[in-house]
Amino acid sequence: MNHFDLVIIGAGLSGIGAACHLTRNQPNKTFSIIESREAMGGTWDLFRYPGIRSDSDMHTLGYAFKPWRDKKAIADGTAIRNYIRETAAEYRLKNIFNTSVG
Ligand SMILES: Cc1cc2nc3c(=O)[nH]c(=O)nc-3n(C[C@H](O)[C@H](O)[C@H](O)COP(=O)(O)OP(=O)(O)OC[C@H]3O[C@@H](n4cnc5c(N)ncnc54)[C@H](O)[C@@H]3O)c2cc1C
Repeated sequence: MNHFDLVIIGAGLSGIGAACHLTRNQPNKTFSIIESREAMGGTWDLFRYPGIRSDSDMHTLGYAFKPWRDKKAIADGTAIRNYIRETAAEYRLKNIFNTSVG
C-alpha cells in the first residue's frame, strides 16, 4: 500500500495547480492526486461543445507560476485543457490515480 503526506482530490485546474504548488514549495512532501475521470483537466476536458471558453481572462484564471502566453486571453476550452496538461507535464506530475469504475 502506498502512503502519501497529502492527497489531492481531482485533477482539474485546481488540483493540478495545487500539485505544482506542493512540488515548488514543499518538495519533501509526498502526494497523490485522485481523479475519478480517465483524463486530467476537469471542466476543460469534460466539456467539448463548440464555442466553450473561459469567462475571465487567463492571465488571472491561469497559474501565477505559469503565465498565460496565448494571444487570446479569453481562451477556448482546448487551449485551457492543453495548458493544464502542459503544466502537469512540466512538473512531471506522477501518482495521478484514476478511481473510475466504469
Ligand atoms: C464554460 C465555462 C467557463 C468557465 N469560465 C470560468 C472563468 O472564466 N473563471 C473561473 O473562475 N471559472 C470558470 N469556470 C468554472 C471552472 O469550472 C473553473 O474555472 C475551473 O475549471 C474549476 O477547476 P477545478 O479543478 O476546481 O474543478 P473541475 O474543473 O470541476 O475539476 C474537478 C476534478 O475533480 C474530479 N473529482 C471531483 N470529485 C471527485 C472525487 N470525489 N473523487 C475523484 N475525483 C473527483 C472531477 O472529475 C474533475 O476532474 C467556467 C466553467 C465553464 C463550464
